Amino acid sequence: MRNLTVLGSTGSIGTQTLDVVRKNSSELKIVALTAGSNTELLKKQMEEFKPELVCISDEKKVSELRETALLYNIKVVSGMDGLIEAATLEHCDTVVTAIVGMIGLRPTVAAIKAKKDIALANKETLVTAGHIIMPLAKEYGVDILPVDSEHSAIFQALNGENHNRIEKILLTASGGPFRGRTIEQMKNIQVEDALKHPNWAMGRKITIDSSTMVNKGLEVMEAKWLFGVTYDQVQVIVQPESIIHSMVQFKDGAVMAQLGSPDMRLPIQYALFYPDRPYLDSKRLDFYELGKITFEKPDMENFRGLKLAYQAGNAGGNLPTVFNAANELAVSKFLNRKIGYLDITGIIEYAMNNVKKIENPSLQEVLDTEKTTYELIESRW
Ligand code: NDP
Ligand code: MG
Repeated sequence: MRNLTVLGSTGSIGTQTLDVVRKNSSELKIVALTAGSNTELLKKQMEEFKPELVCISDEKKVSELRETALLYNIKVVSGMDGLIEAATLEHCDTVVTAIVGMIGLRPTVAAIKAKKDIALANKETLVTAGHIIMPLAKEYGVDILPVDSEHSAIFQALNGENHNRIEKILLTASGGPFRGRTIEQMKNIQVEDALKHPNWAMGRKITIDSSTMVNKGLEVMEAKWLFGVTYDQVQVIVQPESIIHSMVQFKDGAVMAQLGSPDMRLPIQYALFYPDRPYLDSKRLDFYELGKITFEKPDMENFRGLKLAYQAGNAGGNLPTVFNAANELAVSKFLNRKIGYLDITGIIEYAMNNVKKIENPSLQEVLDTEKTTYELIESRW
């Protein structure tokens, strides 16, 4: 039996993780769940999974959980301390980081120090602090198992292979809903347009990130840390059908790929059962129906999010944190209709040019950089 804490259990990855648990209840057990503010769904999850502990980040909402908590003898905590308590619970073996944004950083560090394996969906953690997380995981002997579909594909392609023999990581991208458009044609994009992804149903933030290609930029950085490669070794390939989830090219020229229907439960389940592959009731690929798979070069001139990500990654230090924090704030402003669509990348670029560079930032300096980036943006937008 593997005991799980799910950070962000009410979100897209969180609910799909619970679906995997539901279908494998003799092997997976929930010990802790956390949400930001959605008490209605969290209550239902408490009734179904009866965890030892739940955390609701919004402290004002604790009282809404009291009755259900009493009924099932569940401890209720809140805030950052609560997230850390959930991530370090004694009976937990694996923490699924399905929380969105840099808020996931401190609980992930705490979980590693408590020797919990990490099923990592929260890519923002590796983007901003990969240089801290990866050595820490090694030091504490914990596994970081990728949940992001591309990274899971790469991880699967690397099964049994020597990592020193990687020549290139071929990171696939759908290109998002605006693939093929020019900057001029993207000026008036509204929130509703950007929230429609052609192949994947995901949380709001990552859906916007996919439309700007910032998501692919974050994934380039995530791949660098997970697989120990350089940025020159990560090549993005647009594959609009989202059938090939990514590939690895080895030094002998062989290319290994993982294919499948777009369904996040596969990478979630693989991270939880690795290296086993239990049955999953997902749609199978029908190659006759599919007919063909197409490939394109990413358009980095009109989709500046990807270009800026490579720049931030290559610059290193706290620049990936500036890139990520600026994007988080800009996306939330766009979702609240405070800025236009193209302002998202404009804000990222402005922040990257104006926040003071720090080489090899400590965890505190990463968090300080997030704050400085927010203050800089708030003073102008
Ligand atoms: P969602 O927005 O759907 O869910 C986010 C979860 O985090 C919810 O449980 C939410 O709680 C909680 N949360 C949000 N803000 C806070 C906060 N300030 N404090 C505490 N909890 C908070 O996101 P996704 O599931 O789409 O994404 C989660 C992570 O996984 C992201 O890092 C994303 O990049 C990554 N990912 C997602 C994929 C997908 O298919 N969705 C694919 C690959 C990676 P509440 O519901 O109460 O707001
Ligand atoms: Mg992905």
